[in-house]
Amino acid sequence: MLDKRQFYINGAWVAPIDGQDYDVIDPSTEESVAVISLGGTADADAAVAAAKAALPGFMYSDPAERLALVKRILEVYIARNDEMGAAISLEMGAPIDMAKTNQSGSGTWHIQNFIRAFDEIEFEKVLHEKSPDDRIIKEAVGVCALITPWNWPMNQVTLKVIPALLAGCTMVLKPSEIAPLSSLVFADILHEAGVPAGVFNLVNGDGMGVGTRLSGHPDVDMVSFTGSTRAGIAISKNAAESLKRVHLELGGKGANIIFADADEKAVVRGARHCFQNTGQSCNAPTRMLVERSIYNKAVETAVATAEKTKVASAHEAGNHIGPVVSQAQFDKIQGLIQVGIDEGAKLVAGGLGRPDGLNRGFFVRPTVFADVNNSMTIAREEIFGPVLSIIPFDTEEEALQIANDTPYGLTNYVQSQDGARRNRAARKLRSGMVEMNGTSRGRGAPFGGMKASGQGREGGVWGIEDFLEVKAVSGWASDAE
Ligand code: NAD
Repeated sequence: MLDKRQFYINGAWVAPIDGQDYDVIDPSTEESVAVISLGGTADADAAVAAAKAALPGFMYSDPAERLALVKRILEVYIARNDEMGAAISLEMGAPIDMAKTNQSGSGTWHIQNFIRAFDEIEFEKVLHEKSPDDRIIKEAVGVCALITPWNWPMNQVTLKVIPALLAGCTMVLKPSEIAPLSSLVFADILHEAGVPAGVFNLVNGDGMGVGTRLSGHPDVDMVSFTGSTRAGIAISKNAAESLKRVHLELGGKGANIIFADADEKAVVRGARHCFQNTGQSCNAPTRMLVERSIYNKAVETAVATAEKTKVASAHEAGNHIGPVVSQAQFDKIQGLIQVGIDEGAKLVAGGLGRPDGLNRGFFVRPTVFADVNNSMTIAREEIFGPVLSIIPFDTEEEALQIANDTPYGLTNYVQSQDGARRNRAARKLRSGMVEMNGTSRGRGAPFGGMKASGQGREGGVWGIEDFLEVKAVSGWASDAE
């Protein structure tokens, strides 16, 4: 069993001050594979103090030096990709091939995109040609607490740490206690790349302990959080007392509107997307809205896709889906499948229990419910498992009404060959992102949600600006630059 109890504070690996042991479970075997420490208040305080002490030196550093630092991080990150993929696979159950490509690769992708976006940030500029002595200066927000979930660990960590570094912030990362191993590798990568002591710190812990201490800490200027809507609300309340900036990336219940003129792969693509990462993606298209004239065929296709989706250990090579992350998630998903049955949705694929041949590990059957209506629990709650709900509709107006009838607003999807209709839908969908006809977002596009899916945007220029304050200066001595 791996001993991963140490934290990374002020440029060194240190023993916890008031930590408690916590087992990291391999979701494929249910075996404990590592022990970490859940820190306490003293650990969180030590990390915040290190970040605070490092702030003046780092926030006024030359932006070009910070860019050079991030480029070194990218090199080391790429060199250690397989190690990163293995850590992610072990901690949260992504199949090893997918963990090394999509999971770890999402980190590479974001770091590269931030490097490109950095050129567009103007740290100092003249307000307007008619106001030559007015300067707009952008500067680091300050000390940031970065709190991340387990489902796409490096996606979320790089979306926060890299722009914070580029902006000149110092930070404390608290990764998910369920999937902490990849972040420990990441801390080592930053160390190897030469991030100055105190600029980046990592403390493991749970939400009630380190998470709560960080979100309420008087010396933390901003908390950037990705996770459940429940925790986002708790963090917002706790942060209010110290009036810190709060950035939230929360849950989702994406609609995938499939019109009768959609391309022939639309249903397969939508079902696969729902099952990808074993359904554990905030932007998963979990509500498939299908125009009635193609409804029966779409249900058949979705069932066939579910039946073809292989479920196996994360340690096996190949193109399958792995287990869900934990016993708690397994139980939650089973409970919601039961609620779907009880509320009268038609179970057409998968269902309760593990897939055949898998007796151990948190494996779930790829599941499809047909004849769902949008007021059923399975259409309203984020299940976070490979469970697809199919809902029929008759008109474009009705489809948009159903899609928007949710507390969430993260990503919605539209499939149609009619360009004018797609554009109309994109304008009317209440979500931070709309992806159409299987085209994914381009490099540097902002990621984030509306309503209960959060506030703020990550990625690209928006992601860096999120970590910057804007300062308006008048009476600037333009001749004294
Ligand atoms: P979670 O909210 O339970 O935990 C996320 C992180 O927050 C963990 O590090 C946890 O320790 C910490 N935390 C929990 N309660 C806290 C509190 N009261 N104060 C401070 N920190 C606290 O979520 P999870 O189960 O790890 O992740 C799944 C959720 O994340 C899903 O709802 C999913 O939709 C969401 N998510 C959203 C996005 C997005 O960008 N919108 C991306 C990925 C995941």
